[in-house]
Amino acid sequence: MLNRQNLMCRDGCGFATFDFQLKDILEYGIDLINSVEPHNVSLSIHSACRCPEQNEEVGGMSNSYHLEGLAIDFHIDIVPLVVVVYFMRLAAEYYEVSDFIDIVVKEDYMHMEFDKRRWLKKQQEDIK
Ligand SMILES: [Zn+2]
Ligand SMILES: [Zn+2]
Repeated sequence: MLNRQNLMCRDGCGFATFDFQLKDILEYGIDLINSVEPHNVSLSIHSACRCPEQNEEVGGMSNSYHLEGLAIDFHIDIVPLVVVVYFMRLAAEYYEVSDFIDIVVKEDYMHMEFDKRRWLKKQQEDIK
């Protein structure tokens, strides 16, 4: 359901390198929602991977996580955003990355990003 086609940059450049951990969290979050939701729902993706040109086109910040495949904008039809946020937070907890996932709720979608750099740094510190 999350695949190269729907995560790919929207201008046809072919950039589709989306973070596998963030993908796991999203898929688990959808599974959790579907375990309580009678209809089988899926993500409506507004924007995931973006090349610099596309990022500028849509007015993204120059340091946007979309540029690194570490952010996604989406909503789920018929499921209120607050409910989606709740389950995505649960999924992030399950993968033990809650502290590194940021969610910003907009009017008709949510932006979710994974601070992978900070997460990697934490992993290295934990090894020491
Ligand atoms: Zn592009
Ligand atoms: Zn975004």
